[in-house]
Amino acid sequence: MTPAIELTRLRKQYGRRTAVDSLDLRIEPGSVFGLIGPNGAGKTTTLRMILDIIRPTAGAIRVLGEDPRRGGPALRRRIGFIPGELRLDGRMTGRRLLDFYSEVSSPVTSGTIDRLADRLDLDLSRPVHALSKGNKQKLGIVQAFMHEPPLLVLDEPTSGLDPLVQREFLRLVTDARDRGQTVLLSSHVLSEIQQTADVVAVLSQGKIVAEGDVASLRLGAIRRVRVGLAATNATVIREQLGALPHISELDVRSETDIVRVSATVDGDIDPLVKWLAQCRVIDLAVEEPDLEESVLRLYGEPSRPETGERDA
Ligand code: ATP
Repeated sequence: MTPAIELTRLRKQYGRRTAVDSLDLRIEPGSVFGLIGPNGAGKTTTLRMILDIIRPTAGAIRVLGEDPRRGGPALRRRIGFIPGELRLDGRMTGRRLLDFYSEVSSPVTSGTIDRLADRLDLDLSRPVHALSKGNKQKLGIVQAFMHEPPLLVLDEPTSGLDPLVQREFLRLVTDARDRGQTVLLSSHVLSEIQQTADVVAVLSQGKIVAEGDVASLRLGAIRRVRVGLAATNATVIREQLGALPHISELDVRSETDIVRVSATVDGDIDPLVKWLAQCRVIDLAVEEPDLEESVLRLYGEPSRPETGERDA
């Protein structure tokens, strides 16, 4: 089957900086593909090349079987796009803006705009300039999904959305996949990739450092744990916790009548839970570390990418 997206030795150079470095990627039709990676890894640059917003320095791109440089508006209409930095402004209402977009995109089935706006809890009667960042983002989502394009390219689509709306958005993504649409989703948020993506690629310094299904990448295996214990002897606690498997970055501090512990658990959390069971636990938070940290830990990176000023 023709891949929905195929990148071959794709490269983008900004002066001496290589933003995307010999990237090979194949995205099967009808799948959700998650692209994750630390800031400056090259995600946005890759997506912009796929949309022909910027041109590659070298390499080839096929999108829905076509070269995006030659596909023109006809190809563009078959792609729903949410840019990473969505800028929407103006006095027209959300509804008028979407009506305007629907004239240039493929036809939109009647009722779809309202149905999407309802699902995302978006008020279409308000002028765009008066919308909060999150509501503008919802408008961007409706605009990308409303004509049910065969391909959706979504750059950090949940930024600014509250958790309930994020969840609904993820349902939109899986509904789209169930209808046979292909979704390329870039994100910093590991949980949303874990919940939706069939395949995930980890990008670091313009290169894919890992690719596979989410489970096999073990990205969820690292957690940051913070605990408050009704105890006073921090030294004993430090010793006992330090002896448990999978614990690193252990920090144990004594405050009045409470010992605060923070640690990173890389792997099985069960030994820690069993150890905590014998204590009086006052506070407990188990957090997913940010994606950057997980990626860097798992796939190592000799030096962090520069995040200097952009010059174009
Ligand atoms: P983020 O999650 O922070 O948006 P990203 O993975 O999307 O990161 P890109 O925006 O693609 O990363 O940037 C990749 C690299 O290319 C970075 O080092 C960035 O500074 C550089 N870069 C991107 N656009 C330009 C530009 N127009 N001019 C110069 N350098 C650029």
